[in-house]
Amino acid sequence: MAVRPELVKTRRLVVKIGSRTIANDAAFPARLAGQIAELAARQCGAVVVTSGAIALGWSRLGYKAKPKEVALLQASAAAGQSVLMRRYDEAFAELGLTPAQVLLSYADLADRERLNNAREALGALLEAGAVPVVNENDTVATEEIRFGDNDQLAAMVVPLVGADLLVLLTDVEGVLDERGQRISVMAPDAQWTQMSVKSDRVGSGGMGSKVDAARKASRSGAAVVIAPAGRANVLNEIVSGADVGTLFPRLGPPLKARKHWIAFTLRPKGALLLDAGAVRAMREGKSSLLPVGVAGVSGAFNAGDSVRLLALDGTEVARGLTRLGTVDVARAAGKKGAELEASFGAAAAELVVVHKDDLVISG
Ligand code: GLU
Repeated sequence: MAVRPELVKTRRLVVKIGSRTIANDAAFPARLAGQIAELAARQCGAVVVTSGAIALGWSRLGYKAKPKEVALLQASAAAGQSVLMRRYDEAFAELGLTPAQVLLSYADLADRERLNNAREALGALLEAGAVPVVNENDTVATEEIRFGDNDQLAAMVVPLVGADLLVLLTDVEGVLDERGQRISVMAPDAQWTQMSVKSDRVGSGGMGSKVDAARKASRSGAAVVIAPAGRANVLNEIVSGADVGTLFPRLGPPLKARKHWIAFTLRPKGALLLDAGAVRAMREGKSSLLPVGVAGVSGAFNAGDSVRLLALDGTEVARGLTRLGTVDVARAAGKKGAELEASFGAAAAELVVVHKDDLVISG
């Protein structure tokens, strides 16, 4: 019986698979293929986000253990990605499914034009009935510009393909409470840091990252389920509304894809400190941030970059795209009227630091 009826209507699902599953469960790709074929039969498209390139690659290069240096990890990923794809290719082909490799880096998704290209390509693949198989483009991703891990990447793929469900597969039953019991439905305000977090040495995610990714994806209007990869028919159980894993219900109203991108994909390049009046105005959600509300600035950014908007006590109030670079914000901060005009001339009348269309309240 469907105890989660809202999942029964799922039309597009993103499923994330960890390195541990790929490395330890040789039968997994075939099981996944079977489930995706069943999903297709119920008009539900699937996008796979998979780790495992590094886990499958390092021994092929003669390394004795998983390396720690970035260059060796990148090399491992390059050696393992083709093996990873071959596993999916073979398993999917058995059932007449066509997997299609998509490698993404943070720089691709941080750039609107490249992101739109990725969106179009993914859309065309789904339209053609193929199954996009996404991984991070590890050879060009150094530590500073990584997605973090593939749980985070999966959360960014959700708005990109307009998915209504994200399933993060793992090797435990779901999110566990202090007594080790599975939590069936996560309350929107639950503190995940209190819960037992199982460390994950093969992959890089761990439960903390999954819960974080789940929260992000749920802001785009998707439901999220963290569920065990080892369960035979787990995806179809989930879209049949069964009580499997931990559900993060859809949090409405969903952020539009562009606002979700500002809030969760872009990395802030600096911060603006807001006075109390500006904090109130931001939280009401209807105003742009004007120079007069800015009390301080940190970081080094240009017009168009992402910045954090902080209250004076350091709490993050919002994120947004700034229309002024660091130097101009510093010059304009706290000013209005004639004072602003003295620094910026006639342009002062239209000076906005962060326009409300480019602003997302943190929450
Ligand atoms: N992209 C890495 C790989 O395929 C894994 C990243 C992660 O573990 O999240 O090996």
